[in-house]
Amino acid sequence: MKKIGIIICGRYQSCGGGKCLRALRERVGAFSIYPKDEDVELVGYSFCGGCPGGNVEYVPEEMIKNGADVIHLATGLVVGYPPCPRIRHFKQFIESRYGIPVQIGTHPIPLKYMQAHADLPFWKQSNMEQLAGDLMREDPALQEDYN
Ligand code: SF4
Repeated sequence: MKKIGIIICGRYQSCGGGKCLRALRERVGAFSIYPKDEDVELVGYSFCGGCPGGNVEYVPEEMIKNGADVIHLATGLVVGYPPCPRIRHFKQFIESRYGIPVQIGTHPIPLKYMQAHADLPFWKQSNMEQLAGDLMREDPALQEDYN
C-alpha cells in the first residue's frame, strides 16, 4: 500500500482534481511508478497557498501524520504559465525538512500544454526536462487524451 499526498499550484486552487485522480487510478503520468497491482491511497490534497507557496512549509506535516509515504507536486507546477519558479525549492525543502520523497508531477501533461510550451524560450531555459523528463517523454496519444 502506497499512501500519497498531492500539492497543487495555488493558481488552480479551485481545481476539482479530476485529472490527478484519473491518472492515479490509471497509473499514468507520474503515478506510473506505482505498479497497477499495488494499492494506493490518497491521504492528502491541498494547494501551495498561492505565491510564494507558504503552505508548502506546513501542509506536508499533516499529510505525513495521515500516513503519506510520498508527496507529489502536481503537473500544474510544471506546465502552468509560467511554470512554478520555486518547484525545485519545494522539492528540496520538503525532502530535507520532512525526510519524505517528493515526486514531480501527477497526471500526464496535456498535449496542448506541451505544444504551447515548445514555442516558449523560457521553457528550454527552465530545464524542466531534467526535472520531469518522464512526463515529457510520455506517449503523445496519452497526453492528448488528457487535454
Ligand atoms: S507558481 Fe508556484 S508558488 Fe505560485 S501559486 Fe503556483 S505552485 Fe504556488
